[in-house]
Amino acid sequence: MLTAKLKQYDYDLFIDGKWVPSSNGMKEDVINPATEEVIGKVSVGTMDNVDQAIQAARRAFDEGPWPRMSPRERSAKIAAFRDALKKREAELVDLIVAESGAIRSLASFQHVGMPLRWLDYWTEVAARNPMSPLPVNVNDTFSGKKVLGAGAMVRVPKGVVAAITPFNFPFFLNVAKVGPALTTGNTVVLKPSPFTPLEAFVLAEAAIEADLPEGVLNVVTGGTDVGQQLCVDPRVDMVTFTGSDTVGSAIMAQAAPTLKRVLLELGGKSPLIVRQDADLNLALSAGSLICTQSGQGCSIPTRQLVHNSLKEEYIHRLKENLEKVVVGNPADPQVTMGPLIRDKQRERVESFVQGGVEAGGTLVTGGRRPSLDKGYFYQPTLFTDVDNSWDICQEEIFGPVGVVIGFDTDEEAIRIANDSKFGLSAQIYSANVGKAFEMAQRIQSGQVLLNGGYGAYSEYIPFGGFKRSGLGREMGEEGINEYTEIKSILFHGA
Ligand code: NAD
Repeated sequence: MLTAKLKQYDYDLFIDGKWVPSSNGMKEDVINPATEEVIGKVSVGTMDNVDQAIQAARRAFDEGPWPRMSPRERSAKIAAFRDALKKREAELVDLIVAESGAIRSLASFQHVGMPLRWLDYWTEVAARNPMSPLPVNVNDTFSGKKVLGAGAMVRVPKGVVAAITPFNFPFFLNVAKVGPALTTGNTVVLKPSPFTPLEAFVLAEAAIEADLPEGVLNVVTGGTDVGQQLCVDPRVDMVTFTGSDTVGSAIMAQAAPTLKRVLLELGGKSPLIVRQDADLNLALSAGSLICTQSGQGCSIPTRQLVHNSLKEEYIHRLKENLEKVVVGNPADPQVTMGPLIRDKQRERVESFVQGGVEAGGTLVTGGRRPSLDKGYFYQPTLFTDVDNSWDICQEEIFGPVGVVIGFDTDEEAIRIANDSKFGLSAQIYSANVGKAFEMAQRIQSGQVLLNGGYGAYSEYIPFGGFKRSGLGREMGEEGINEYTEIKSILFHGA
């Protein structure tokens, strides 16, 4: 009943501006994780299809008009691409609710709303002149003669970009990669997660409507083999990846023999520090966000470090908040948390929870499946009396599971926060903003939020990780520049 609004999607691969069936004729069902119903079918890419897609992207880059267009022309195309997506905003929200299990408010605000706004900005970026003058200077030469040197620095596109994305925020992350790659004049082969491939094909339809030249955007679905092939092929110049740290390191190794640039946005185990002087309401509203996308988010505050003087009250109120969460089919507006993506993911979460119990942690709430007939649901779960060295505190569980750990001093909080292989995002809650700012400088993390701001991914603010949370940055000027190469053109006059 709740997905009845959606059409049944049925897509072939999108290669060189055309819809192409899988070379072995194979199609796979796409499942709604809340209802276990089939919501669509997609062709599954083979090695031949990957080859065709890379060839098309290569030709479009080497011979086509895209990298050579004037900034104004390319900006107009990006604007047309954005407009084609904006027209389908309501449909995209429905699709994301059904395909990823997101609740409607999150689907509308973050999954779809934010990327459409980024595209507004990238139309401006595409229109910029990529050339900047270098300073005039006096250079020595081998002959001993001094010459007047000057030149220009040009940011040119990197080439063929393979974009590989995970299941949790499919449209958001596909646009986060395809947007800046196209804006700067690259051509792209996009490989979405096999669990959530449909939004990638909506991007392909937008590319047709915007009349992007053939081969500029290609979409090939598939699993590990397709991803691997994109990383090893010498015709690909760069891999931009979002996903787990394990696959991130495999991608780096796969890309190494051909010395590709890699941009890696990986996992996290983000600390949220609640100092003694914190506004508890504010801290608790952030702490309760472990249920965002059913805990399947990279920067969710899953390790909550609370001053021992507040810990008992904090745990009591967080438990109350988590027990108010309504778990169910996110197409129902009353529901505040949807399912995990697949049963396998739920089993993984269950094994971490069991490990936490066996290690001696206290289960404050949750730790079970709710009694719903269909769907891959799991209850919001909170642990305390845990040690930061345990798996439940160190591993990215990717489910609605958090831990609360007490501390007595700022030094101790910083030490525990940094005692992690990840470093993606951190939060500090304190009435003493100056102190929090000082602490922020010692936290090993790509982002530190002081007194709130979780989920505010801005086109202007670089996002990315320290340690096993990644390499490079998305968003901001740095995120745009990842997709370019610098060329210095020098001219010397005698
Ligand atoms: P995953 O790493 O299992 O898979 C991601 C993608 O990589 C999929 O498309 C998959 O098919 C592909 N892949 C798998 N093996 C590959 C290989 N050897 N070579 C090339 N491609 C390969 O991740 P997932 O389970 O889909 O998503 C969850 C992960 O994504 C979490 O770790 C989460 O933290 C991370 N994530 C990070 C960010 C961020 O911005 N840092 C954002 C969202 C999600």
